[in-house]
Amino acid sequence: MTNNNMYFVANWKMHGNTNDIERSKSIIKISKLKKFKNHKIIYCPPYTLLKTFFDKVKKSRIFVGAQNTHPGTEFGPFTGSINSKLIKATGAKYIIIGHSENRKLGDTNFIINKKIKSALKEKLKVIFCIGEKYSERKKKITNLVLKKQITKGLIGIKKNENIIISYEPIWSIGTGLIPTNVELKKNINFIRKILNSLKASKKMKILYGGSVNPVNAKQLAEISEINGFLIGGASLNSKKFIDIIKKTIN
Ligand code: PEP
Repeated sequence: MTNNNMYFVANWKMHGNTNDIERSKSIIKISKLKKFKNHKIIYCPPYTLLKTFFDKVKKSRIFVGAQNTHPGTEFGPFTGSINSKLIKATGAKYIIIGHSENRKLGDTNFIINKKIKSALKEKLKVIFCIGEKYSERKKKITNLVLKKQITKGLIGIKKNENIIISYEPIWSIGTGLIPTNVELKKNINFIRKILNSLKASKKMKILYGGSVNPVNAKQLAEISEINGFLIGGASLNSKKFIDIIKKTIN
């Protein structure tokens, strides 16, 4: 049975312009439906659109988030960087940290841990991405990888109620491939076990990300352990994004 408190996170990556924000009107309508009351939509556009997006949706029940942050907490001589203080000032409430596309560019578990701490300091809610590569899955070391990413990413963080985990198998991002429900359920349960061992709140959400689309959303949402989706490609098309939401909550 579908969870009645689902998160729908739209990760626009390096896409989008102000006209695309206009298209969020139809999503604002959905967010106002009575049956949507307990669900959440979070848009994560590029930094340059955060403030415009926030101004557009601030009177609705839609939230805005950034896709990354600098690990430093203070202002300083870091040309081209954006830190959590600057993100907070745009009105954004959420932030994606640890996305595999940024891990690929050099974000280690250590850096990710610093970024999470900096975001929490600014009272941003963190969407912390973890996931194994295809080669790691093949070697059957998925659990090992997930455990390392979670424990190192959360080191020294005692208050974790503002953290949401997004489980994103890297082989599934943008490929059209998704794990079977059995595999996904097993991995999500393993993540929950690690979180419990770290004494994380039982209320901590675990999302799934990786090629979610209008065709597979219903099947994925049947896994009651999943508290929502992080959606990349399909979130750029508002019709597809709406379809995913409708298929999930109906
Ligand atoms: C993502 O951006 O993390 C993602 C899951 O992308 P996609 O939905 O395109 O696979």
